[in-house]
Amino acid sequence: TATVAIVGRPNVGKSTLFNRLVGKKLALVDDRPGVTRDRREGEARLGDLEFRIIDTAGLEEATEESLLGRMRAQTEAAITDADVILFVVDARAGILPADRPFAEMVRRSGKPVILIANKAEGGAGMAGAYDAFSLGLGDPVPLSAEHGEGMADLFEALMPHFPDPNEMEDEEDDPNKPLQVAIVGRPNAGKSTLINRMVGEERLLTGPEAGITRDSISLDWEWRGRPIKLFDTAGLRKRARVEDKLEKLSVADALRAVRFAEVVVVLLDATIPFEKQDLSIVDLVEQEGRALVIGLNKWDLVADQQGLLKDLKEKATRLLPQVRGAPVVPLSGLAGSGIDPLMKAVFHVYEKWNTRISTAKLNQWLSEALEANPPPAVSGRRIKIRYMTQVKSRPPHFAVFGNQLDALPKSYTRYLVNGLREAFDLPGTPIRVSLRMGQ
Ligand code: GDP
Repeated sequence: TATVAIVGRPNVGKSTLFNRLVGKKLALVDDRPGVTRDRREGEARLGDLEFRIIDTAGLEEATEESLLGRMRAQTEAAITDADVILFVVDARAGILPADRPFAEMVRRSGKPVILIANKAEGGAGMAGAYDAFSLGLGDPVPLSAEHGEGMADLFEALMPHFPDPNEMEDEEDDPNKPLQVAIVGRPNAGKSTLINRMVGEERLLTGPEAGITRDSISLDWEWRGRPIKLFDTAGLRKRARVEDKLEKLSVADALRAVRFAEVVVVLLDATIPFEKQDLSIVDLVEQEGRALVIGLNKWDLVADQQGLLKDLKEKATRLLPQVRGAPVVPLSGLAGSGIDPLMKAVFHVYEKWNTRISTAKLNQWLSEALEANPPPAVSGRRIKIRYMTQVKSRPPHFAVFGNQLDALPKSYTRYLVNGLREAFDLPGTPIRVSLRMGQ
């Protein structure tokens, strides 16, 4: 579950907000006077959001300098643990100098922050709420923790930081569930030969004597104790004559195989690699959001294996920027070599495809990325990116929040995608980024 920290100078009403979110009864028990606590934590609930909440208010009554120092240390610790920060100010008092060091800590963390103008019951303290803009922490959410007003707005502000339960309903990563792998490629790339070799029986007939329709479209296999369902496109077609194999790739067949799969092996004929059709198959895999491995088949026919591999890896980087880093594995279906490295790559990209990155880590990365290369101003519009969160995996999908994002150049989104791929080591998986305006 996500962790939310309540941060702010003494007396802005952090404890009251904590109590409101945790449920008064429970918190009051903890709240005996005279009990010194450096930190309170609780299970909070707001609407259908459930999260862990940390209160930094334990020392509110403290007046001594040393206690203020301790409160700062405690705030730092809470910020470190948090995925989202609620920064509380007193709307009636406005922004005081004492607010600033806490605001500074929050800003430095680069974590998503929701600015709260508390004590705004009945619309009081609007001036203070406007004042709060000057902290540079975004639009304040006016509320009254004591009277329970504005909690719906707080919910609205918090919600984007929590994974959408519908979107997050990914399949469990159950090791007993077969991994669905499709092997796609142009006719004659050697798909059937490879699958025959993997499955270890002449279950799919291939070669010049073809003319057989296979009955099943997917095959159960096992690699190192992991169950696998293999799916190939060639098997869908009746091969009446050898000439049929010269027919062009059926996009509908390829699409069906890709949609079936979690991981797609795009099989190239290493002697004629990266033909136009190969590139469009890779595009398809990317568009459908599947994990990708590139297999270089017929490696037994290659004379200068080292030279060609180097050359083809460079080509892959250049021709397939949208799936940068996808593994490129030489193999020979005919000789039965390279199947182990291929399957290792398949499981590796599958793991990457399932990656989940915590909001805290993402935003730490984001603040560095923004600093290294700030979004440009486009025709006088100042684009501001505030934070991001992962909304989905399989493939990894991130939502970026900010202002004026409709003006954000495509090249900047690419910069973010490439940076994410690099920083979180996500080769061979498509990465999705959606831009969302407002808090
Ligand atoms: P598919 O259309 O992709 O299923 O291709 P096939 O598996 O039917 O293979 C097409 C032709 O390439 C056949 O004549 C195979 O014997 C040959 N072939 C397949 N894999 C290899 C390989 O690794 N090395 C060599 N030398 N030939 C291969």
